[in-house]
Amino acid sequence: MAAHAPGANHSPARRGRGDRGAVSSVAVGIAVATFVVMIGLSLAASAGYRSSLEPDAHRRFERDAESTHEAVVPQVRALDRLVRSVRDSSDGQLDTTTEAAFRGLVSGQAELADAQGLLSVTIVRRVDSESLTAAEFDAWVEAQRIQLDDENWTVLGPPDVPTRYVATLEYDDGVELSGLDLGVVDEIAEAFATASESPGLTVVAPVNPGLLGNAAATSGQAFALISAIHGEPGAPATAWVFETVSGDAVLAAAGGSGDDLEAVLMLAEEPHPLTTRGADVGPVDFDADDDVARYATLGGTPLELVVTDPDGVLSETSDEPLIVLGAGAALSVLLAVLVYVLARSRDMAMRMVEEATASLRRSEEHFRALVQHGSDLILVADGAWNVRYTSPSVTQLLGYAPDALVGQPLLTAVHPDDVEGIRLKGDGGRGTVEARVRHQDGSWRHFEGVVTDLRDDPAVSGFVCTAHDVSERKAVEQRLAHDATHDPLTGLPNRVLLLDRLEHALALAARDDSHVAVIFLDLDRFKLVNDSLGHAMGDRLIIEVGRRLRRAARRADTVARFGGDEFVIVCESVPDVEEAVRIAGRLVEGIDQTVMLGDQETVVGVSVGIALSIGPETTSEDLMADADAAMYRAKEKGRGRIEVFNDVMRSTVVHRLNTESMLRRALELDELRLHYQPVISLVDQRVVGYEALVRWQHPERGLIGPAEFIPVAEDTGLIVQIGTWVVKESLRQALIWQELDPQDRFIAVNLSARQLTQPDVVEVLRAIIEPLDLASSRLQLCLELTESCLTEDPVATQSVLGQLKDLGVKIAVDDFGTGFSSLSYLKHFPVDVLKIDRVFVSGLRHDDGDSAIVAAVISLGEALGLTVVAEGVETSEQADELYAMGCDHAQGFHFARPMAPDEIVLPADPVPVAREVG
Ligand code: C2E
Ligand code: CA
Ligand code: CA
Repeated sequence: MAAHAPGANHSPARRGRGDRGAVSSVAVGIAVATFVVMIGLSLAASAGYRSSLEPDAHRRFERDAESTHEAVVPQVRALDRLVRSVRDSSDGQLDTTTEAAFRGLVSGQAELADAQGLLSVTIVRRVDSESLTAAEFDAWVEAQRIQLDDENWTVLGPPDVPTRYVATLEYDDGVELSGLDLGVVDEIAEAFATASESPGLTVVAPVNPGLLGNAAATSGQAFALISAIHGEPGAPATAWVFETVSGDAVLAAAGGSGDDLEAVLMLAEEPHPLTTRGADVGPVDFDADDDVARYATLGGTPLELVVTDPDGVLSETSDEPLIVLGAGAALSVLLAVLVYVLARSRDMAMRMVEEATASLRRSEEHFRALVQHGSDLILVADGAWNVRYTSPSVTQLLGYAPDALVGQPLLTAVHPDDVEGIRLKGDGGRGTVEARVRHQDGSWRHFEGVVTDLRDDPAVSGFVCTAHDVSERKAVEQRLAHDATHDPLTGLPNRVLLLDRLEHALALAARDDSHVAVIFLDLDRFKLVNDSLGHAMGDRLIIEVGRRLRRAARRADTVARFGGDEFVIVCESVPDVEEAVRIAGRLVEGIDQTVMLGDQETVVGVSVGIALSIGPETTSEDLMADADAAMYRAKEKGRGRIEVFNDVMRSTVVHRLNTESMLRRALELDELRLHYQPVISLVDQRVVGYEALVRWQHPERGLIGPAEFIPVAEDTGLIVQIGTWVVKESLRQALIWQELDPQDRFIAVNLSARQLTQPDVVEVLRAIIEPLDLASSRLQLCLELTESCLTEDPVATQSVLGQLKDLGVKIAVDDFGTGFSSLSYLKHFPVDVLKIDRVFVSGLRHDDGDSAIVAAVISLGEALGLTVVAEGVETSEQADELYAMGCDHAQGFHFARPMAPDEIVLPADPVPVAREVG
């Protein structure tokens, strides 16, 4: 070793290492060259010897493979017979597919217990969502729960074969395999579909054994055998027999494959042509890799039995080639070492070895620590996506034993919808992926990670995935998304989600030419529950109705809470309006029963409107508005009805909308007018007051009567504004008349129910009346209310009327006798005037009933001290009769029609002659 030369260019450490490197590389070079030459010679010698032994070993291997085959084939045949017999004995008998039928079937099959390799027999029952009753649905949910809880599985059949009974739901697009204890992989779903197509067919599909519950019994290949049961020929499948078979268990039953050989029973990738005819095929391959493939059929599907010699039968059957090789190698090493020792001192070699080993160990430990203790999942798959390695975190993250997934196709553990994404991302590069992966316990976990394509890297030649579990974050995200789109009280979709689903449904319907139905449902008299029992009870009622609706609706329908006591149901693929009505009928039936609220029994009534999409032009707004209009109509016709939206309603709605906007304009442009109809005292024929009646001076249509626009004004609330205007305007006009001709006179104004329920009705009227000082002008305001105003909410009305009386206002009951209320309210309400409806007046003299009613009202008025006014008096005979009966006042065309203000002549006596107006 050179001394440290002061001022030398190299640092001592550097130079030292350089010297050592130079010396060792020479030493190693010579040693390696010696070793290579020697080992080459030994290999050649060993190979020569080995080839001379080969034919003998081939024959031995072939014999062993043949006997394995002979043991396995009868096992497969026995299974095949069993499968056929289960299938044949089920078909046509299991049309009801009850649990009892299944129990009978399974216990009748004594052979099931002896079947080697059969893991489970499951009857998968089809339940159409259409025909699913609430009880069945519960049972189904229950069944599903049981499926998830390993210990509660019902074992119905022979003790060695776990058997299960599973209900499935069918959706439009196929069969949903709910509750099965395996990953719902594409192959299985396809197998179900294929089996369903031809009766008597058993389809075999691979099952990921790692995903079957009983992992110990199912390493290696496992298969699902599926045959459909058709109640009657040609009808859709009512159930499927679903059996799982373990390839390894079949092999084990056959006595294994001999000490030195390995055998795998699997689905044939490329079946031998003969197997399509159902024949078993002898050895078809014997190649340099030492494996033999044979074929047998199970349920009509070819299985392949591959026997391999993993450790090399040849080398084990004879040691001689090895001895030759071993001796050669030993000699080579000896020589190489000798050469090396000569080249380098022993000391130096040791240090190099130590250094290299230490650094290797450090980096290896570093890497191992990363992989072994990291919380991320590290997974290596080969080019065909079969798992080659999983980091130990697989146990903590996914519940699998450390090597349980090794050898399995990676993508079968991945949610079918996420498979394509991984394939795409992994193909030829590196990309971040998100995927749901099935946990050993059957649940889905969300993973996020990176997949890298290292197929070109000889050290890996496959894919590397690193991923971590983001299920918790996903859950929070889902919770937030859920809250934004669901009603907190009922948990049903809210308005936002409803409109989204409706848009989606309409887009689909436009594509496949079907209809979407919107069912609008509103509780009758919900306000009453809220007011009388309190909001907590109101909430409970809403929750209960939501629950019942969800149960009564079809599975795929969206049941949403639209607000308050309104629910909306969106139904896809509705063939016609009759079906929509049937669905709505079922919904009503589902909720139309009593509900217990506390100790109070409440009857729930609903009014329902239905609208059906017509074609691609139908928008979600149209459909919602139409269903709403139909519901409105149902309420109008009397609660508890179902109404379908039709063209008449459409034109009514259009008319209503037009009228509303025009009416708003009319108010702005001051197009409303008041006409006045005199009220006459029958005693002395003098005018005692006027009733103000509103009209609309339409710029094009001329004078429009109140019947045409008051209902719209009431619906839209415009009546409140109009009513206030009427009071102001009529008082202004009447005060002018009072000045011209001062007398005791009243002005009668009609007040609609909607006005009376305004919280500020008293304040608004007070603000108009008080500054006017009506008393000193000898003018009185009389408010005319209909009977229904008084009966709708008696408690509130009584208090409002009391306050109005305090303002000095008189109260009249209009159209008296046409309502259905009891007369007792007359006693409780501060009423001053009864106005006999004109239908009774018109029947005077020729209808005894009407005459009797008029007489009764007059004497009622007398008894209670109320003024009685007869409306619609058209003839002098009617006037005379009323006078004779003791009626106080009268109003009608006989005396005067409603008139424009400038037609009224004052002083007003004698009574103006009736004439046409407008
Ligand atoms: P109402 O309060 O019963 O008004 C009396 C109606 O009977 C008036 O019809 C009047 O023109 C009509 N009438 C009067 N005498 C006779 C008669 O001898 N024979 C017949 N056949 N009819 C007669 P109009 O003006 O068309 O008003 C209809 C309804 O519109 C009113 O019935 C009232 O309920 C409502 N209305 C009118 N103005 C207003 C208003 O300012 N506010 C509110 N809320 N409703 C109003
Ligand atoms: Ca009136
Ligand atoms: Ca009236």
